[in-house]
Amino acid sequence: MSNLNPSGWRPTTPQASGAAGDDVTFTGNRALMLEEALIFEIGSTETTGVDFGTAPKATSRLGGLERGDTIGLPGLSEPETVRHYTRLSRQNYAIDLGLFPLGSCTMKHNPRLNEKMARLPGFADIHPLQPVDTVQGALGVINELAQWLITLTGMHGVAMTPKAGAHGELCGILCIKAALEARGEDRRILLVPTSAHGTNPATAAFAGFTVEDIPATPDGRVDLEALKARLGPDVAGVMITNPNTCGLFERDMKAISDAVHAAGGYVYCDGANFNAIVGRVRPGDLGIDAMHINLHKTFSTPHGGGGPGSGPVVLSEALSPYGPLPFTELYADGHITLVEEETVGDRHPHTFGRMTAFQGQMGMFTRALTYILSHGADGLRQVAEDSVLNANYVLRAMEDVLDAPFAKFGPCMHEAIFSDKGLPEGFSTIDIAKGLIDEGFHPMTVYFPLVVHGAMLVEPTETESKATLDQFIGALRSIANRAKQGDPALKAAPALAPRRRLDETAAARKPVLVWKDAALAQAAE
Ligand SMILES: *Cc1c(COP(=O)(O)O)cnc(C)c1O
Repeated sequence: MSNLNPSGWRPTTPQASGAAGDDVTFTGNRALMLEEALIFEIGSTETTGVDFGTAPKATSRLGGLERGDTIGLPGLSEPETVRHYTRLSRQNYAIDLGLFPLGSCTMKHNPRLNEKMARLPGFADIHPLQPVDTVQGALGVINELAQWLITLTGMHGVAMTPKAGAHGELCGILCIKAALEARGEDRRILLVPTSAHGTNPATAAFAGFTVEDIPATPDGRVDLEALKARLGPDVAGVMITNPNTCGLFERDMKAISDAVHAAGGYVYCDGANFNAIVGRVRPGDLGIDAMHINLHKTFSTPHGGGGPGSGPVVLSEALSPYGPLPFTELYADGHITLVEEETVGDRHPHTFGRMTAFQGQMGMFTRALTYILSHGADGLRQVAEDSVLNANYVLRAMEDVLDAPFAKFGPCMHEAIFSDKGLPEGFSTIDIAKGLIDEGFHPMTVYFPLVVHGAMLVEPTETESKATLDQFIGALRSIANRAKQGDPALKAAPALAPRRRLDETAAARKPVLVWKDAALAQAAE
């Protein structure tokens, strides 16, 4: 607190504020872009937003375990607190501010109707341990959403409880593991394409399998012949993303499934990219045994700091018997029960167990069902079509200035991929991404998937208008051209953001998670 001037403002140096050149202000603020220090730096342990009276003397009943020193948490007055968090929130980028082209993440608009429904007291104010007779409506939402997910995917069953895509992957792989155990087979290998999301091999390894790569063909698909050649009695199955992380449809998916099944394995599909095919393709028809659906991607529930994930897993007839508890069951008279350990009896004897304490992400179920019902079957199909159309619009508008490695093989699905090939010496993907920040856009996904050098994965989603896409394309073309001309200013981008380039590797590898008063730390040395 020693570095505070009496008014609470901390003048910042150009380096600290990241401000360009001479436009440094006394406060470090730049017009509406407000600096904000950590609460530990601006708050004081002597301040709170509440006036407490002196605590009355009381005999402690803690048996000598009462705290002897202060907690040391800094406080602010109420208006200072409101400003602190409001200022921090303004340094965030959000889908409510602009296009968020983060590939593989489906950052689409979250309709406000979903929020209204999720906030209805009958959904928002209930408790997972309430007697089921008092929460029939909520169980009805879970059950109806489950039916929609089964219908949309053409699958046999669905496990609703997993709480994210990666959690759903684990659920599906545990089903496969349980099925193999029931068959008495010890298959240890899971085949995963080189283009897979990092969560796929992580899930496989976490569940005790050994991961082996399947190579890709030059047109960005799984190499079917290489996959077939590897199949055998030690292979538990495959984990394949479709549409894949290069934004391409795996056209051989049915042939892959048939070959894997013939060799006694199971097919896990990473369904994170379901947005591109919802209402158009039923994964069940492609022979898939298990697939997670990211409700927070395809079905528009907020994510990325805006809300929790939800990753229901649809299951084939072969894997459904192994799915986790609990699940809902609808009786002919309209009554819904929750099938749990206490109530399951001998109805679901092969379940591998349980993924979560309770019933899953209720708020996300309500949002997703609202989204599905407000779109209808035809509207969901249009979601897929428009998301693919938007991505192809970006692909074709950019391919003359950025290398698009698969563009010559045909259209993409819901995301367009570019590489850093052709950028001059010294310029790469990171410069394009940082340039976008100055233009007021969240960068696209970069350096993923690994199969494309310096990958830039752009997923505009269907909720962006042509006008917004044109503005984004204009910005991206301008940045690509600046890179091609070797503009040194681009190497320093972002120049207009609150901070310049941060050492992201150091931040990830050596995160500073504990605040230390610099003066105290120095005194201690
Ligand atoms: C987002 C994503 C995942 C993981 O989903 P989470 O909900 O973040 O756990 C897995 N695979 C792919 C291809 C994804 O895009």
